[in-house]
Amino acid sequence: MNIAAWLRRAGRGFGALPAVMHGDRILQDYAGFAQRAACLATGLRSRFDLKPGDRVAIVAKNTPAYLDALYGIWWAGLAAVPINAKLHAAEIAWILENADARLVFADDSLGTAIAERRPATLAHILPLGGLDFEALMTGEPMPLAERGPDDLAWLFYTSGTTGRPKGAMLTHRNLTAMSYAYLTDVDPTAPGDTLLHAAPMSHGSGLYIMPHVARFAVNAVPLSGGFEANEILDFFERRPGTSMFAAPTMIKRLVEAPRDLAPGTIRTIIWGGAPMHVADTLAAVDKFGPSFAQIYGQGESPMTISALPKWVVGDRDHPRHLDRLASAGMISSAVEVRIADADDQALGTGEIGEILVRGDPVMAGYWRNERATTETLKGGWLHTGDVGTLDEDGFLTLKDRSKDLIISGGTNIYPREVEEVLLHHPAVREVSVIGRPDPEWGEVVVAYVVGEVDANALDAHCLAEIARFKRPKAYVFVEELPKNNYGKILKTALRDMDTEAAGA
Ligand code: AMP
Repeated sequence: MNIAAWLRRAGRGFGALPAVMHGDRILQDYAGFAQRAACLATGLRSRFDLKPGDRVAIVAKNTPAYLDALYGIWWAGLAAVPINAKLHAAEIAWILENADARLVFADDSLGTAIAERRPATLAHILPLGGLDFEALMTGEPMPLAERGPDDLAWLFYTSGTTGRPKGAMLTHRNLTAMSYAYLTDVDPTAPGDTLLHAAPMSHGSGLYIMPHVARFAVNAVPLSGGFEANEILDFFERRPGTSMFAAPTMIKRLVEAPRDLAPGTIRTIIWGGAPMHVADTLAAVDKFGPSFAQIYGQGESPMTISALPKWVVGDRDHPRHLDRLASAGMISSAVEVRIADADDQALGTGEIGEILVRGDPVMAGYWRNERATTETLKGGWLHTGDVGTLDEDGFLTLKDRSKDLIISGGTNIYPREVEEVLLHHPAVREVSVIGRPDPEWGEVVVAYVVGEVDANALDAHCLAEIARFKRPKAYVFVEELPKNNYGKILKTALRDMDTEAAGA
């Protein structure tokens, strides 16, 4: 099944329902949205000699035209390659070449930079939005292209906290299973509900589009095209029934914004992509009510490894509430999860090992990278590279990746545990804990801190909450922590910075 069949169905049966918003303005109903996708599909297939399965990239900030492009591509039977517009032009060029993209839709501001480094296989660079884009939709609508469940729909480039990004091949089956799991496990959306895209549609937020189209809900793009705390809070206030995906740092900014919303105003904010510390989750629920849910996934099993639903986040009376908040939730209804040792053998409850995943949302493999595919999908299980443990209630807790683990004086210290404690201190805004090589201890604990506080205060705070051997031997105060373009803290970069500073 072509994933765009959900749009055709909505356009036919519920054409008058609102489908696309820009700020407060409704731009398209479902009949209009489906018509635009079908006409753009005609434009793509007839004018550019594209064949089913050819890759069409999108490099753009969030805009309503993103939705047209995505669905036009699918309607035509092509595969979409959404690329983060914040990447460096050289990184974008690398992905365009690796994906063997034939055509790219790009923001006006990016078209020239892309043209300068254009790979030989990229035949067309078109603007996303504007008159030329609209002109592509002036032909007759084409019938929905037939696609099989294993055909490529979305080539999802991983965020690459180390090394080159890889293209996870997401098929129509993967996206369908992912959408069902979202509606089952996280947010059973209804017609008229709204999804607000404040995070990049090329990545985290874009995956949420499909389940919302499946349920005839509205996709809304903020006028700023991104995350402005006040604009987002205004939108929630004016439009009840709104949900949003947010990176943990975005939620922190909403909590810190000097204004309140009446409880129940926000339908759902889903966090994921990086750990959210328990103190931050509690502060968010205190301020906005129990509207928060968590998803743990990766490009290779999008949105679908585990989920912590709103009713669990809000269940303060549960005896294990804090443990559950610190977890990544229950296993997604669409997959099986195995915690495995180095030989892929299943480990028992409470044991720590690599998280392996199997099921319909798991990618078909990495694009033109057999070696990485064989390694990552060994034995039919996705090897996530993440480390975790399952408790007796079936909740999955992520542990630090093995390379982040600190071994000091022969004892394992988990950076997340120390970070949680430091974040309880009211003056600490952000923190990342790493190991620094040390001749005596092997490694010592070092905390990089953003906040108006001094080392003595933090030391006293740690002494009151964790074992002495876990507390940082050094604090480094910084304006900001190194992050990638998706807001993930780059511990490798931090370790490099630390080594450099030590050598200076
Ligand atoms: P990406 O493929 O870019 O979405 O990155 C996926 C990675 O982000 C995962 O393998 C995890 O390491 C991390 N991640 C995703 N969701 C969560 C979460 N809810 N909590 C902690 N880490 C997460």
